[in-house]
Amino acid sequence: MSGTRPSGLPGTIPHWIGGRAAGSADGRTFDVTDPVSNRVYARAAAGSRTEVDRAVAAARAAFPIWSRLSNRTRATTLNRIADEVEARCEELAQFESFDTGLPITRARGQARRAAENFRYFADVIVSLGEEAFRQGDEQFSYVVRSPVGVAGLITPWNTSFMLESWKLAPALAAGCTLVLKPAEWTPLSAGLWPQILSAAGLPDGAVNIVHGIGEEAGQALVDHPEVPLISFTGSTDTGRHIVRSSAAHLKSTSMELGGKSPVIVFADADLEAALDSVVFGVFSLNGERCTAGSRVLVQQPVYEAFTRRLAERAERVKVGAPADPATEVGALVHPEHYARVLDHVETGTKEARLVAGGRRPDHLPEGNYLQPTVFADVSRDARSFQEEIFGPVVAVAPFEDEAEAVELANATQYGLAAYIWTSNLKRGHRIAHAVESGMVWVNSHNVRDLRTPFGGVKSSGLGREGGAHSIDFYTESKIVHVALGDVHTPRFGTGVLA
Ligand code: NAD
Repeated sequence: MSGTRPSGLPGTIPHWIGGRAAGSADGRTFDVTDPVSNRVYARAAAGSRTEVDRAVAAARAAFPIWSRLSNRTRATTLNRIADEVEARCEELAQFESFDTGLPITRARGQARRAAENFRYFADVIVSLGEEAFRQGDEQFSYVVRSPVGVAGLITPWNTSFMLESWKLAPALAAGCTLVLKPAEWTPLSAGLWPQILSAAGLPDGAVNIVHGIGEEAGQALVDHPEVPLISFTGSTDTGRHIVRSSAAHLKSTSMELGGKSPVIVFADADLEAALDSVVFGVFSLNGERCTAGSRVLVQQPVYEAFTRRLAERAERVKVGAPADPATEVGALVHPEHYARVLDHVETGTKEARLVAGGRRPDHLPEGNYLQPTVFADVSRDARSFQEEIFGPVVAVAPFEDEAEAVELANATQYGLAAYIWTSNLKRGHRIAHAVESGMVWVNSHNVRDLRTPFGGVKSSGLGREGGAHSIDFYTESKIVHVALGDVHTPRFGTGVLA
């Protein structure tokens, strides 16, 4: 099963600018590898300032066409994009699984979610009204929303296609045109957007894709004076750098960054449900998930038993070839990332008690594989408690009472998600309000409602995406005040002030 190549793999992955496939002006490319063989299977065009300039010019040219369409007409195109994504779900899933190492079952789910994102934002844009304010009989004020212009979208390698759709759909719904810079480790599925968007009838230039290295192609997009907003998902360090660079042109930025999300398990919780959720929450998507519950805090009376059962389950998680439908954890995306995760595992072994995993599974001698790993008795200053590992690795620590649970939950720089397990409803709400995070789930794992705000606090991000929040980001609100009767103005220069 390992090394299963989907049919139709391209040998080259070009940019897409103004509705046409294009190489880089200087002919440069970069290698694209798969995480099972770590061999080069394609070469992608390596964009630079020149390609970003061309892409922004194409997006600017398309802006008057796309932005002036009615919301209903744009929504119709978005629904056609969803149809095209659905029609290619299997191909998309196979490409994504091959390129990223995600298990095929998970990649199928992500492809379906990508289609859903377009349908959802089609619905949002036709149902969203604008606000009006009346001051008695004297003045009436109303809000006009306009798309901001050319949006710059920069995305990471985990669930690449789905996350691209999460930005493309609201930007297009709002009437923006855009330039997308996909992650350089996983450009394959982004290579399917041109077919999808053309088949759906999107005007040329409304979406442009420039592949390339972050520091070059991504940076050129961030620095471009005619791109007034940047929507970024990726690591906290890169996010900080982009916010600093964006200040030169006072760009709007949306930052969806890293996490180290706590799962708080009280002794009175439904422990079976909590265990299922902990195992799925940190090991699904190979643990390469921003909202992974990667710190598990367990109340003392059940700590030992819960930790032991978690370790047993982690040892039984099926690690294997991404293309195998029985696989639960596939191959980590890239040898560099794999080495980083292994380095965390090595440090963790010195800092805490390794109770599961920590090694390559015996039956998988090649590829970026790691048996799901559990560290117990992790202290709050340990690296595995503080740093995002972004792999199938979880840190477990005990707590005595509610106060200590909240203190430990808040003891990192991050604040993306939190999960609380208790049968005491009042306590569930109390803790939900006390933890420093943008999103909290009580007695549940990461189930999304696309209408709700998505995002983090502290070092996990700036701003919110999702529902009307996304449309707010991609539009400028203008207020128009209109007098309905006579205006009473102090009469300066007449000698009569009243
Ligand atoms: P990364 O920051 O290395 O790269 C993300 C993107 O930024 C890539 O496309 C990269 O090419 C680009 N980039 C790099 N340097 C740049 C620069 N100077 N200017 C402009 N663009 C630049 O992140 P990654 O390793 O690809 O992704 C993993 C990270 O993403 C994790 O920290 C994870 O938590 C985070 N993430 C967050 C969310 C969320 O919603 N909060 C979702 C998914 C992933």
